[in-house]
Amino acid sequence: KKEKIEADIAIIGGGPGGYVAALQAGLLGKKVVLIEKNKLGGTCLNEGCIPTKTLVRSAEVFHLVREAEKMGIGVENAAVDLKGVMKRKNEIVGQLVSGIDFLLKKRNVKVVKGMGDLIDKNIVMVKEGLNETTIHAENIIIATGGKVSQLNIPGSNSKNIITSKEALELKEMPGKMIIIGGGIIGMEFAFIYASFGVQVTVVEYADSILNTIDEDVVEVILQSAKEKGIRVISNGAVTEILDGEDNESIVKVKIGEEKRYFSADKVLIAVGRDTCFEGIDHEKVGLVLNEYGNGIEVNEFMQTNIPNIYAIGDVTRKMLLAHVASHQGVVAVKHIAGEEEAMNYSVVPNVVFTMPEIATAGYSESELEGRNIKVSKFPFEANGKALALGDSMGFVKLIEDIDEKKLVGAVIVGPHASDMITEAALCIRNGLGSREIIKTIHAHPTTAEAIHEAALGLNGGALHFE
Ligand code: FAD
Repeated sequence: KKEKIEADIAIIGGGPGGYVAALQAGLLGKKVVLIEKNKLGGTCLNEGCIPTKTLVRSAEVFHLVREAEKMGIGVENAAVDLKGVMKRKNEIVGQLVSGIDFLLKKRNVKVVKGMGDLIDKNIVMVKEGLNETTIHAENIIIATGGKVSQLNIPGSNSKNIITSKEALELKEMPGKMIIIGGGIIGMEFAFIYASFGVQVTVVEYADSILNTIDEDVVEVILQSAKEKGIRVISNGAVTEILDGEDNESIVKVKIGEEKRYFSADKVLIAVGRDTCFEGIDHEKVGLVLNEYGNGIEVNEFMQTNIPNIYAIGDVTRKMLLAHVASHQGVVAVKHIAGEEEAMNYSVVPNVVFTMPEIATAGYSESELEGRNIKVSKFPFEANGKALALGDSMGFVKLIEDIDEKKLVGAVIVGPHASDMITEAALCIRNGLGSREIIKTIHAHPTTAEAIHEAALGLNGGALHFE
């Protein structure tokens, strides 16, 4: 069957970039077509943010159950039922994906299933089976996202090798897991599987895990990792993966001059994400790539060098985060509709869902070296709510520019960090300082009081900490 569609906007890719752009365009009354070759929601909903966080929650619950006696609750024979954990994850993902479907219908967005091919600046062809749809659109938004990076070393396609995708689908609990890469994704999985009782080893190539985050924060995570029995190897170059006995794999790691061998039944490769250019022949269409050649070049309105083609999300390689993709989608659609609201990347909150969580906004302390700043830290050990939760590891750190009296950075490592960071982000984005935080009464008892106390620390001293 052949079909022709005329549209105001055709969007290629239904991840958090593409589907949010479609919802926004629908809201503005545009005639929108959204093309998706796989599942609505993209990486984020199906293989990324949401499924990992449902596993994180299961891991936290198991951790709590094991700690329950300390809280006066008797629990016997607690065990992880991995099938049940995965079933819950699939149900939540399914619920959210059908929610998107529902919203898209409500906004009159036409969803075309299949692989979209960018033919020229106004035409996208979609093929699925025998069906062929030609979409003629005034504007096109490319939101094709990313895919898992492979590791090119001998043995990297052996049977026990998995990526983040398979790590979300395991049917049996491994006894031992080696995670290659101590970045955000690697460390999130390390805490998930270690909490489930798996013996986890993380091998990181750089001299520290999470190496873009301040050292004092990483120290907290390393301490927590140690308590969970996660072994962390830094400065470790994985050179080969060999087949061992009993269906195990052996990972060969070079640490300086030393060679070490680690065995595991699953080896998770978490060495980063590549850009997905499927269906986007940038040379043929004449799209310019960024200076590294790994993402589509865009201006602050997400417009490519071809004015009616926009690109958003991971395919732009700006920041590989779902909330950035969505915001870029809104900026692109508003620009198409004639509104100039530029992207601003200076205060994007970034969260690592380790245990405890890390959340950052603005600049880190190391990025601000040489600037006239004041730093204040307040530990969760001195916060009543954190103690009541039984979760008092970590601290809030606020960084203020002394001359401008404005907050320029914040890091929270501890309970509820991911939900609390927005207060700091709001301040930084709007040029507010610690004095504005102090003037705002924070509810008691909450972990957010630690932000209030850290702000007090920038103005003469915290009340509840010496
Ligand atoms: P994607 O989500 O990758 O979506 C792109 C879509 O386009 C896909 O559905 C794909 O099938 C489709 N597509 C591609 N090419 C075509 C074509 N030619 N035709 C039709 N369809 C096509 N980010 C966070 O902010 N918070 C987190 O906690 C977080 N956790 C993560 C955990 C993991 C394990 C992973 C892998 C990622 C995580 N991320 C997280 C990153 C986040 O998932 C991405 O930044 C986000 O999904 C990018 O959105 P996007 O719309 O650009 O692309």
